[in-house]
Amino acid sequence: MSNRTFTMIKPDAVRNGHIGNILQMINAAGFKIIALKYTQLSTPQAEKFYEVHSERGFFGELTQFMSSGPIVAAILEKENAVADFRTLIGATDPAKADEGTIRKAYATSIGENAVHGSDSDENAAIEGNFFFSGLERF
Ligand code: GDP
Repeated sequence: MSNRTFTMIKPDAVRNGHIGNILQMINAAGFKIIALKYTQLSTPQAEKFYEVHSERGFFGELTQFMSSGPIVAAILEKENAVADFRTLIGATDPAKADEGTIRKAYATSIGENAVHGSDSDENAAIEGNFFFSGLERF
């Protein structure tokens, strides 16, 4: 069990003006922000980030969407970070997400679902390293 996870506030939530509210929910749930960046992925960068999904039918839609506008990337710290953050964001499909979760509050569809959260300690490290150097972590 590691104490760090990686998140992105996705282009839909940025476009809809939810950055502040989502960061507030993250802080209120006890996560400390270790690194934070406002940036936009190119389509090839989105394809690289999501390469584990390259065989899935929605890969093109996902990578187009994820490169369609700016995102907020962050490394978060808390005991049991990966599992607790998955609980905070809720199910992939917002129709199935529990009350009180970020996706229940701000996601609009299974594809445009407001936030990313790493699914394992190993992926949290890989994804954090994709966006942040050692000098950008505090
Ligand atoms: P997550 O771990 O809850 O983010 O879900 P997955 O790892 O299964 O999928 C990664 C991302 O791909 C999701 O967060 C969605 O943005 C997207 N995605 C998953 N399923 C679908 C789908 O059926 N259609 C589309 N367009 N996107 C999807």
